[in-house]
Amino acid sequence: MRLSVVVPCFNEIAVLPALRARLMAACQDAVGEDFEIVLVDDGSTDGTRRLIAAYHSEDPRVVGVLLSRNHGHQLALAAGLSFCRGERVLILDADLQDPPELLPQMMARMDQGFDVVFGRRRSRAGETRFKTGAAHLFYRVLRRFSTVEIAADAGDFRLLSRRVVDIVVKMPEEHRFLRGMISWIGFAQSPFDYDRAPRLAGETKYPLRKMLRLAADALTGFSTLPLRLASYAGFAFAGMGVLLMIYVLASWLAGAVVAGWTSLMATVLIIGSVQLIVVGILGEYIGRLYMQSKARPLFIVDQLLRDEAERGLR
Ligand code: UDP
Ligand code: MG
Repeated sequence: MRLSVVVPCFNEIAVLPALRARLMAACQDAVGEDFEIVLVDDGSTDGTRRLIAAYHSEDPRVVGVLLSRNHGHQLALAAGLSFCRGERVLILDADLQDPPELLPQMMARMDQGFDVVFGRRRSRAGETRFKTGAAHLFYRVLRRFSTVEIAADAGDFRLLSRRVVDIVVKMPEEHRFLRGMISWIGFAQSPFDYDRAPRLAGETKYPLRKMLRLAADALTGFSTLPLRLASYAGFAFAGMGVLLMIYVLASWLAGAVVAGWTSLMATVLIIGSVQLIVVGILGEYIGRLYMQSKARPLFIVDQLLRDEAERGLR
């Protein structure tokens, strides 16, 4: 099979009909008939599941991976990638923010010898100022912290070669940041600039809470610098402490020791909060270490709607 398209869907009933029409056309344009569309239902509650099942029974090129509950975008992608069979795999959001019509051009770029062709957003229409601003800042902080080169302004919209998909599927990490993992894999990767459209219909499935979680997964997944920041803060405060000690002793010798409530409170509060922040950073890493040590499966499949359909756990 020449091409698979993996689409994670969480309560996307409003966009699925348009998605299917545009995606089918784009795939036919790119490779003719030899493709599959893997729709991953990430525990939707709005009928997305039923619609995927209906699409599958109308056209066997639509494969349904129905997860047992909501696992989150990144794990839904992991599920889709592990079941797709194409020589090349396109990852696409359900909401058509990333135009499937770019597929033939991305395929042509890959023909030039790339293993990854990743979409890079030239512009983001229809997103809140806050979201674009936060994304801008986040990518820059991540690039500064990370030891691998992670492209700024690139999402999960990308075309992957089979060998890259096979490697991703073998990576067992639970707190996933797929775009970082793909950068980490290496090989020849090419950016592909495009303009991001607004969401076609429905609401964002990434509220602030999920954005923050993804950002924390990305930072902890690709950097241990935050852990070292704790020691840097420690050294800085130790230095200041020595200076303060000299001042305190000098005041004592001069016989003026009672005043200084303000500076005392300030010191206690600052040191106290820095300590708590550092403990929190440790907690972020230890929590992930703990969850990963359980080695649970990344996702549970309720039903696989594929020609030679099988039922069961993975
Ligand atoms: N998504 C998912 N599970 C979730 C949240 C989101 O599968 O728990 C899917 C969603 O259906 C969409 C993609 O992830 O296909 C990106 O979500 P969305 O477009 O809402 O994010 P945004 O573009 O607003 O960042
Ligand atoms: Mg979107």
